[in-house]
Amino acid sequence: MTASTIVIVIVGAGQAGALAAAELRRQGYAGRLVLIGEEAHAPYERPPLSKDVLLQPQTARCAIHAEGFYAEHAIELKLGVAATALDAQARTVMLSSGETIAFDKLLLATGARVRRLPMLDALGGLGESVHTLRTLDDAQRLLPVLQPGKRVLLVGAGVIGLELASSAVDLGAQVTVIEQAPRAMMRCAPPVLSAHLCVVHRARGVALHLGSPLAAAARERGEIVLTLEDGTRLTGNAVIYGIGVEPETTLAQAAGLHVENGIVIDAQCRTSHAHVYAAGDAATQWDEASGRHQRRETWENANQQAQTAARAILGLAPEAREADWFWTDQCGLNIQFAGDMAAPEWLARGTLDTPPCVLFGLDGEGALVGAITVNQGRDMRSAKALIGKRARIARETLADPAQNLRNLAREFA
Ligand code: FAD
Ligand code: NAP
Repeated sequence: MTASTIVIVIVGAGQAGALAAAELRRQGYAGRLVLIGEEAHAPYERPPLSKDVLLQPQTARCAIHAEGFYAEHAIELKLGVAATALDAQARTVMLSSGETIAFDKLLLATGARVRRLPMLDALGGLGESVHTLRTLDDAQRLLPVLQPGKRVLLVGAGVIGLELASSAVDLGAQVTVIEQAPRAMMRCAPPVLSAHLCVVHRARGVALHLGSPLAAAARERGEIVLTLEDGTRLTGNAVIYGIGVEPETTLAQAAGLHVENGIVIDAQCRTSHAHVYAAGDAATQWDEASGRHQRRETWENANQQAQTAARAILGLAPEAREADWFWTDQCGLNIQFAGDMAAPEWLARGTLDTPPCVLFGLDGEGALVGAITVNQGRDMRSAKALIGKRARIARETLADPAQNLRNLAREFA
């Protein structure tokens, strides 16, 4: 059996699925390639959903590939069709259309689904005055909600909550954010940045309640009323919640693959079944550096793992992986993050109040393990290279804006 005679099926036509299909063709795979997507839309990027799709709905573009790409590359794109069952032994996948497809290699790129909050769902139909944001359809349903004068209650001050708070203020809505944790973006930002983001959002008029678990939710005279554990009552026209996601592992679990808060994969994106691979938000991958499995919910991780999986399917070794990287755009700030956000010490080059600014994360021995650029994305490549080397650089050098980071990276190359 040669690579051109096998059949490769990808379940999930999102970031990882669409990128893996393109990579398979780029690497010269010429056999049958099927990409199955539950959503009706051709594969699109999610990062614009909380930003440009809301702010410039007429002009925002989020398609991953140009319109003719799939036909030109003989990728059989099946949209609006879910894979409903996987028989890993027989190597077949069943679709909601009734079709069964036999495969030689399968990639699961099923992403994640929004974590639900029953207390809020109980207020009424999701998508009417209670919203979550994961899909393009979700974003389009938010357009009439984020209008001048509307009072929006946002539950969760994670990345979704804060990006939505920023967009909602830009669109003229009045915004209240409720977060049970003691600080904002607690999962992926160090305390110094969390604190700064709160200052910035509050300065834009956002009412931010931190360390405030929700105690009750009700509808009163057409309004939504949220009551916090400390008794505070907040009212609004709509509630949007972003309290994290859960990996979409239903198919993998039912097929008997090893699943543990994600489809367990090795460094080459291989699952516990020889012919099945996984990539993206749905997967949890062995990480040599930390010595444990990690689920990364970022655009860059989906791309990286898609590429690795495609290469592994074709028998090619993975390319070297750089430090983890993601970004957020909010309140006019482009903030990029690389490496370990749990670093115990953070050192600033410049000040957060007057960006550009770079924060460097140092471990207990003074090695560079993380970096955050604020309106200074051009330093990110050098910062990533230095993190890759766990560079030890004098604190006064790191803090000095006159010291070119690219030159420092060259010294450590
Ligand atoms: P997805 O893109 O979710 O794709 C999975 C697809 O699989 C979905 O379309 C789903 O419908 C489909 N599917 C699932 N099960 C089945 C099935 N059984 N049959 C068929 N199809 C199925 N990351 C960043 O780094 N920076 C950002 O600024 C950023 N902004 C974001 C903003 C928003 C609003 C959201 C929601 C996410 C954002 N992310 C961002 C995260 C990033 O978009 C995700 O990490 C990335 O999309 C993951 O890609 P994926 O392919 O694993 O999953
Ligand atoms: P998230 O970043 O995990 O943040 C969720 C936040 O909600 C956490 O701070 C969490 O606090 C809080 N929370 C949990 N339960 C709560 C409750 N009952 N009441 C109030 N707050 C609660 O997840 P997200 O913001 O929902 O984002 C969803 C997905 O989209 C993630 O995969 C994310 O990576 C992706 N995304 C990424 C970007 C980006 O990278 N720029 C932008 C948007 C979305 P605890 O930690 O205490 O649970």
